[in-house]
Amino acid sequence: MHVTLSRTFTFEAAHRLPAVPEGHKCRRLHGHSYRVQVDVAGEVDPATGWLIDYADILAAFEPIRQRLDHYYLNEVEGLENATSENLAKWIWDRLAPALPLLSAVVIHETCQNRCEYRGR
Ligand SMILES: [Zn+2]
Repeated sequence: MHVTLSRTFTFEAAHRLPAVPEGHKCRRLHGHSYRVQVDVAGEVDPATGWLIDYADILAAFEPIRQRLDHYYLNEVEGLENATSENLAKWIWDRLAPALPLLSAVVIHETCQNRCEYRGR
């Protein structure tokens, strides 16, 4: 049985988008209540009835959340252009080694906008 498990995390952070045109509102410093959905996918172990313990996703993501929460993202190495797209890949690159079943990182920058990255 193939399943996908999702766990959602939140953090607060500021950013600005330096590559958008002069006068674009996202060029100004502002903040978001980010919501990050982490998906893992694979075959359920028939003995346990589980794919993975949700607590393992939490443990893998926590160091990343600590690095982002209440920071100015543009000052984080690798996030100098802190778009949702770049943030999704930045998180993927740090999460994948600890979470081999990782299948998607979804960034919700606002209630209306989301960006999904699947590692390629
Ligand atoms: Zn923004």
